[in-house]
Amino acid sequence: MRVVSGIQPTGNLHLGNYLGAIRNWVRMQDEMEEGSECLFFLADLHAISMPHDPAELRRATLEMAAALVACGIDPSRSVLFNQAQVPAHPELQWLLNGTARMGWLNRMTQFKDKSGKNREGASVALFTYPVLQAADVLLYQATHVPVGEDQKQHLELARDIAQKFNNDFATEDAPVFTLPEPYIPPAAARIMSLRDGSKKMSKSDPSDMSRIELVDDPDTVMKKIKKAKTDPEPLPGEEAGLADRPEALNLVTIYAALTDGSVESVLRDFGGQGFGAFKPALGEVLVETLRPISSRFAELLDDRESLDAILARGAAKAREMGGPTLDATYKALGLVRG
Ligand code: ADP
Repeated sequence: MRVVSGIQPTGNLHLGNYLGAIRNWVRMQDEMEEGSECLFFLADLHAISMPHDPAELRRATLEMAAALVACGIDPSRSVLFNQAQVPAHPELQWLLNGTARMGWLNRMTQFKDKSGKNREGASVALFTYPVLQAADVLLYQATHVPVGEDQKQHLELARDIAQKFNNDFATEDAPVFTLPEPYIPPAAARIMSLRDGSKKMSKSDPSDMSRIELVDDPDTVMKKIKKAKTDPEPLPGEEAGLADRPEALNLVTIYAALTDGSVESVLRDFGGQGFGAFKPALGEVLVETLRPISSRFAELLDDRESLDAILARGAAKAREMGGPTLDATYKALGLVRG
């Protein structure tokens, strides 16, 4: 298996990013069988498809790289890099632009969602973004690509592009591209705001108290959990009892995710107890989980040389791995190169 997955660089990382996204990558890496590989990249080239602040993108890319390593992505086992250091990604995208059809891209619902009413004002990059995504995975002959619901259509597109390219420019016994299969990642927790159980925990929430950040110190974590919105009822013994108690459900979900349990198993232990007992227990588990992560995270952000070296090593490996496919693509298209 060769798994390739990208993540948009984003700053001010919080518990939702960790439990909902980053930890899944760590699990994927840790569950890979001997001989299988994971390539994880920061999709910084994708970020320019939307209005963005260059200084912010730079900061977010480094922050995300540091967070991934701090959370357990091991750069000696997985290939970890940012797209901007591997020009083969945009190069292959251009080559695939000759194969991708306007009609296919016109059907992408994400472009429609993201461009909204301002279609004419959307960047060309936003429109062709799925072709860059196809290049991201086809470049490495990925066999599996983890996809959530919102990315299924883009993976289908990557397969269509690969298939058409192979048909048009390669022979059946020597195809240029592998058709990647979707890989359904282990279910990730969806973490809600600590102030409002109907909104997801997000860096864009104006209230700091709504989220636990990866850089929060133990006192801050305990304080935020203590102040988290709840209701006066004790915890029920079964999940059904949380149906219309979103804040309580969220705290139990967080506890379950951190201890590798389930909502049911947490309720077996805490059913009948009030938040006066549950919140300190949750705070404790959170502090213990975050302690090693935040100290490694801070260390890496302070040591730019090591962080740069990690990304440079990953990019060198990625360039080496993608080289043969890029060469084969140029050749198949009849392009003359020195
Ligand atoms: P934010 O909502 O804070 O802006 P992003 O949209 O940048 O976060 O998300 C980065 C990654 O983290 C995505 O893969 C997203 O699915 C995941 N993520 C963000 N917030 C949450 C959350 N509250 N619960 C679970 N996963 C989340």
